[in-house]
Amino acid sequence: ATPTSIMVGTGRAAEMGVLFRKGDALQMLQEARVVALDKTGTLTEGRPELTDLIVADGFDEDEVLGLVAAVEAQSEHPIAEAITRAAASKGLTGAAVEAFTSVTGYGVEAKVEGRHILVGADRFMTREGIDLGALEGSGDSLGLKGRTPLYAAIDGKVAAVIGVSDPVKPTTPAAIAALHDLGLRVAMITGDNQGTADAIAQDLGIDIVVAEVLPEGKVTALEDLRTHGKLAFVGDGINDAPALATADVGIAIGTGTDVAIEAADVVLMSGDLTGVVNAFDISSRTMRNIR
Ligand code: ADP
Ligand code: MG
Repeated sequence: ATPTSIMVGTGRAAEMGVLFRKGDALQMLQEARVVALDKTGTLTEGRPELTDLIVADGFDEDEVLGLVAAVEAQSEHPIAEAITRAAASKGLTGAAVEAFTSVTGYGVEAKVEGRHILVGADRFMTREGIDLGALEGSGDSLGLKGRTPLYAAIDGKVAAVIGVSDPVKPTTPAAIAALHDLGLRVAMITGDNQGTADAIAQDLGIDIVVAEVLPEGKVTALEDLRTHGKLAFVGDGINDAPALATADVGIAIGTGTDVAIEAADVVLMSGDLTGVVNAFDISSRTMRNIR
């Protein structure tokens, strides 16, 4: 492509709400063989809702929800917001919290009314030496439905499994089909539970799933995908910034965080994956000098 056609392509892309911050990204996109997508907020709305609360024998639903929500009120994770909203709608708020700790990629912990509360992924419970007992099967079933299972422990005993569900954006299935039509392999990278990620990926026809990735592990996960060829990564969150910078082409969802946008080569004005398809399309037309 000539410098003029690159300029024309960049301009046309901008009209479609796809901002190429670097000219060579237009060229590089043609070389990409894999598109890796962050799950939460990129494939999905990023606004989970509480769907299930299953308590262990001897525990009361409202009591557990109130204690868990008190801890989550200290967290800014979208999962925390789902839980606090559900508790607020039942009037279960206001318990005093002490010694709050957040363990990134695992969960949260605090003392509420003198009781020690843990909330998080199964790996958080394993790490803290909590046996999931019969609730493990319930959690696995939630995962099979594409919901995220979270466990709550009170004073060292598992008290409940909580299901949260983050809807897939309405435009995601068609965008993935279009990427496949372009001959690309589609991968998903997420910190979420393996079973949940597999169920969502299967629904969407995603080719490669990398789940239970800790925030600092996203870059390594991406580098592993390089065995399939040059790659584009699409993300929205603060913790996606290193991956956006590492990928051959980093694409940020414009409704995402400023940190992600700063780290990206391409920024999509729309809040969904349709822009990714447009970016590939414009890049291909530009490189083949098609108007
Ligand atoms: P992602 O951005 O893919 O959701 P995170 O690293 O933010 O990944 O979270 C990974 C997992 O850690 C979540 O799926 C959840 O199981 C657990 N987790 C993180 N924060 C919280 C929280 N505030 N409450 C409960 N679980 C949490
Ligand atoms: Mg995200």
